[in-house]
Amino acid sequence: MAAHNILLLPGDGIGPEVMGEVKRILGFLNDKGALAVEIDEDLVGGSAYDVHGKAISDEAVAKAHKADAVLLGAVGGPKWDGVAYEHRPEAGLLRLRKDLELFANLRPAICYPALADASALKRELVDGLDLMIVRELTGGVYFGEPKEITDLPNGQKRAVDTQVYETYEIERIAKVAFELARVRSGRVTSAEKRNVMKSGLLWNQVVTATHKQGYEDVKLDHMLADALGMQLVRAPKQFDVIVTDNLFGDILSDVASMLTGSLGMLPSASLGAEDPATGKRKALYEPVHGSAPDIAGKGVANPLAMIASLAMALKYSLGKPDLADTLDRAIAGVLESGVRTGDIYVEGATRVGTSEMGAAVLSKFEALLAA
Ligand code: NAD
Repeated sequence: MAAHNILLLPGDGIGPEVMGEVKRILGFLNDKGALAVEIDEDLVGGSAYDVHGKAISDEAVAKAHKADAVLLGAVGGPKWDGVAYEHRPEAGLLRLRKDLELFANLRPAICYPALADASALKRELVDGLDLMIVRELTGGVYFGEPKEITDLPNGQKRAVDTQVYETYEIERIAKVAFELARVRSGRVTSAEKRNVMKSGLLWNQVVTATHKQGYEDVKLDHMLADALGMQLVRAPKQFDVIVTDNLFGDILSDVASMLTGSLGMLPSASLGAEDPATGKRKALYEPVHGSAPDIAGKGVANPLAMIASLAMALKYSLGKPDLADTLDRAIAGVLESGVRTGDIYVEGATRVGTSEMGAAVLSKFEALLAA
C-alpha cells in the first residue's frame, strides 16, 4: 500500500495544540498498519511570517500541491496585528485556497446528541442532525467584476458588486455535491434565487442538467435560498447535502453551525478539481474556529474540531470512510461519557484539557476498532 502524503500546517495560537492530538491519532493508525502515512510539517500564518517574512513560504505551498491532504490548525493573533496587509496571517490561508484552486467548501453541521441542549433550537429539532453545506468558494459576487463605488454627478455614490457564474463553475460544484451525497444519504438540495436573479436561473438549469449526466441515483430538489434559510431553522433534519453559491453558502453555513451548539466543534474541507490522471483532488482540512489567542498555550483548547477535520480527510482524501466513521463515533462516545473541555463544559461533566480529550478520543477509537 503506497503511503499517503499528509502535510500538517499547525499555524498559530491553539493550532499547534489541537494539531498535536491529530498527530497522536495518525501515529496510532500508522503503527497499527491501518493507514500508511508520510507526514510532513510546515509553517503558516504568523509563525511563518516570523521565520520567512510572509504568511506561507513557496516551499510550503509546493508541498501542499503534492500532498494527498493538507491539515491546517488556525492562523492569526494579536502579535501580528501590525503586519503589512499582504503579509497578515490570513494571507497564508488565502494563498493556499487560491493556488490549490479549492473551489468547493464543505461544512458539515453535526449535532452530537450529548450537545443537543447547547443548540439555539429545541433538542428534538437538532438531536442527531447531520447535514453538509457545499459552498462554491472561488466565484460569485465576492469576486465578480465590476466591483466598485463610484461618485455620481448629483453628489451621491453608487456601489456595484457583480454576481457572475459560468456553466463550468456550477457544473463542477454540483458534481462535488452529487458525489458527496452518494457516500451519505443520497439527497441533494440546490439553493438559489432563480425567481429574481439570472445567475440563479443558470444555477438551477446547470445543476438540473448535471444531475441528468450520470447522477440520477441521487435525489435532487431545488429550493429558493430564502425558503431554505427558513427550513434550516424550522426542520433542519430534512436536509442531507445542500449545494449553493458563495454568498448564500456563506450565510447558510453560519446559520447551520449555530444549530450544532458549538462553533468549536466544527470541521471543514475545501476541495479542488479532480486530477483526471489520478482521480485525486487537492484538499485542505481545517477546523472552523480560529487561533483562540485568549486560551492559547494553556492546554485547554478543544481538539475535537481538528480531530473531526482528520475524519473528513480520511473519508474524502485518504480512502478510509470506515475509519472516518469510527473516529466520528469515538468523538460522539467521548462526549456521551461526559468528558468535556471548558468550552463545552456542563455541570456534572468531567472537565479535561486538550491532551486528555485527545487521549480519551484515541482510547475510544482503539476500543471501537477492536470491537
Ligand atoms: P476564535 O475562533 O479564535 O475564538 C472565538 C472564541 O472561541 C474564543 O473565546 C476562543 O477561546 C473560543 N474557541 C475557539 N476555538 C476553540 C477551541 N478549539 N477550544 C476552546 N475554545 C475555543 O475567533 P476570534 O477570537 O474571532 O479570532 C482569533 C484569531 O483567529 C484572529 O486572529 C482571527 O483572525 C483568527 N481566525 C482564524 C481563522 C482560521 O485560521 N481559519 C478563523 C477565524 C479566526
